[in-house]
Amino acid sequence: MKKPTIGVLALQGAVREHIQMLETCGARGVALKYPAELNLCQGIIIPGGESTTIGKLMVACGFLDEVRDASRAGIPVYGTCAGLIMMAQRIAEGDQPLLGLMDITARRNAFGRQVDSFETDLVIEDIAEKPRTFRAVFIRAPWIDEVGNGVRILGEFGGKVVMARQDGMLVSAFHPELTGDERIHRYFLKMVEEAR
Ligand code: GLN
Repeated sequence: MKKPTIGVLALQGAVREHIQMLETCGARGVALKYPAELNLCQGIIIPGGESTTIGKLMVACGFLDEVRDASRAGIPVYGTCAGLIMMAQRIAEGDQPLLGLMDITARRNAFGRQVDSFETDLVIEDIAEKPRTFRAVFIRAPWIDEVGNGVRILGEFGGKVVMARQDGMLVSAFHPELTGDERIHRYFLKMVEEAR
């Protein structure tokens, strides 16, 4: 089968690392700058960065509706960190543009200022076979306060949900593109394969 093309939203944030990871996994990673480029993609990644900025730019560039439509049409979407916030139907505080696709409530900067960046080893369902763990890098990360019925929890840290999936939508509060571990990107590519 032809290599899948995965678009990494390239308005702001950790774009290049995702593209490198996708290429390592045998997919084609492209930096998405214009909504029309979504037509080339069999999967979409919303990277980490600053969700208020990403949201404003997505509105300004016409990406918000287009990514929403692509997801509803069955294109798998993976949001990391700020991308998780963009995917949420609700945020715990404040008001900002969201894709609003996934039945979760995200809490921004949830781990607090004291520990705004840290790394830890997580057991991720479906991905790290127990007891093998996944090294997770959290940078001013959100967590998930509530999940709806259709949402499967894939990872938790300190009793908080930090990774979840709902159909073709995947989110993680941490940054798997910053470690050399490809397993989460491979998991997403499997979702893309299944959707094709
Ligand atoms: N704190 C950022 C936000 O609220 C997310 C940080 C990140 O993506 N690393 O949007």
